[in-house]
Amino acid sequence: MSDNQESGTGNSNPPRNRRRNNYRRPRNKRTYPECPICNKSVKFLLTAISVGEDKKPAHFDCVLKKISENEELEPKEKIIYIGNGNFAIINNKSGKDLSIRKTIQFEEKENSSDGSSEWRKKLSRNLKNR
Ligand SMILES: [Zn+2]
Repeated sequence: MSDNQESGTGNSNPPRNRRRNNYRRPRNKRTYPECPICNKSVKFLLTAISVGEDKKPAHFDCVLKKISENEELEPKEKIIYIGNGNFAIINNKSGKDLSIRKTIQFEEKENSSDGSSEWRKKLSRNLKNR
């Protein structure tokens, strides 16, 4: 029989697994708005376009895709963003000059002061406060 208890020699405090409550984790659970077109989170609001009646931010690419599905593009035409929620179908049939065949206003202007949706106002506020 060997019933030797070898513990207790020296350190009598067992190491405790204390949780450090003081340690704050960096928040990595950010909430991003959801793109109404592809239902994925929109992480870059700077390039987002607000869509729909409730002005949800959507991916630029999704909007572009959606427009190109609605519009019949000729081979030499493509859709570009011209700013302020406006897109344009341009063509370069001549190979030199680009001409706009049609403009598409995607973001509807609101009657508010600067015509932006809430998330964009917030965004521009953040940018100004840099
Ligand atoms: Zn999307």
